[in-house]
Amino acid sequence: MNTLPISIVTGGAGFIGSNLCSELLRRGHFVYCVDNLITGSEKNIKPLLLNPNFAFLKHDVINPLPDSFKKKLNPPLFIFHLASPASPPKYKKWSIETMRVNSVGTYNMLNLASDYLYSRFLLASTSEVYGNPEVHPQKENYNGNVNPLGTRACYDESKRFAESLTMEFLRKKNTAVRIVRIFNTYGPNMEKSDGRVVSNFINQALSGQSLTLYGDGSQTRSLCYVSDLVEGIIKMIQKDNINGEVINLGNPNEMKVREIAEIILKLTKSNSQIIKSGEKDADDPKRRKPDISKAKKILGWEPHVSVEEGLLKTIEYFKNI
Ligand code: NAD
Ligand code: UDP
Repeated sequence: MNTLPISIVTGGAGFIGSNLCSELLRRGHFVYCVDNLITGSEKNIKPLLLNPNFAFLKHDVINPLPDSFKKKLNPPLFIFHLASPASPPKYKKWSIETMRVNSVGTYNMLNLASDYLYSRFLLASTSEVYGNPEVHPQKENYNGNVNPLGTRACYDESKRFAESLTMEFLRKKNTAVRIVRIFNTYGPNMEKSDGRVVSNFINQALSGQSLTLYGDGSQTRSLCYVSDLVEGIIKMIQKDNINGEVINLGNPNEMKVREIAEIILKLTKSNSQIIKSGEKDADDPKRRKPDISKAKKILGWEPHVSVEEGLLKTIEYFKNI
């Protein structure tokens, strides 16, 4: 019988999920990665498939896990629910799928967690629950400013629903749940063509194309390197006596999108231009920066990787794929 602690990671073939699976394996877990590959890729888990403590189930979590799988499953210690498109162009393309995975998919994974007495469930939520924030920086007690009718609503509102559902499983079934609100994260295993700002700018800079600013580039984001984020996610699920807590995870180093373009040009030593490429989406948040005082206090967590260091590692990754 397998005696290692068991973790299930939905969305484990995606960018953050594959980095999380690697770290869990390094820490001695048996890891089941459950993913339908809608935005993730088998190449992200190819090296992990060689590890006897890693198993991949290609499955859409809007359906409960197959009975044949559940029969063989020993009680999981941790269930990390990361499955959901996350890049704006992808969740706009797969809008209904995004709403279904964050609603029905979250329900199915919460139900699984509630089947086991000692399993803990972590929801990967997002800074997008704050919408276009009127409060800056964003603290967990800010209820947000989301347009329920806009083109980002399929993601924002379904993540808000997922948070509410998660809290109801605690209230009604006493399921051991916690929620992290992840702010913009980047690093190795991001899809080259996933359309997010860091992957776009690095790939444009490396191939000599112009870097495309949506709007004038004055909107801000705060970029967190993936190893820092994974550390925070694991601390969050390991921490005792915090059922029902919601905590921001991100790097408070706020930058204008134009500044992100400039630093990537410098680090890639690229001669590419920075151009304005159309208007930004009406609901594209103008400013975003996490207040991480709660993460520091409760988890003893804060990010350590500087933006230069993290971007250099990410540039190396994209050069080699
Ligand atoms: P990603 O698109 O790289 O990974 C998501 C994974 O979920 C993919 O592998 C995809 O195939 C899988 N998936 C989607 N729908 C599924 C379904 N119905 N069944 C099974 N698998 C499914 O995105 P990511 O950046 O790694 O994001 C992971 C999680 O973190 C998401 O929940 C996202 O909302 C959250 N998040 C990410 C960021 C960020 O900056 N990367 C910020 C905030 C929140
Ligand atoms: N952005 C940009 N050019 C790009 C991609 C993104 O100017 O090629 C901007 C986008 O409008 C947003 C910010 O960069 O203001 C971050 O976008 P991303 O898609 O990475 O994530 P978001 O934080 O919007 O979910």
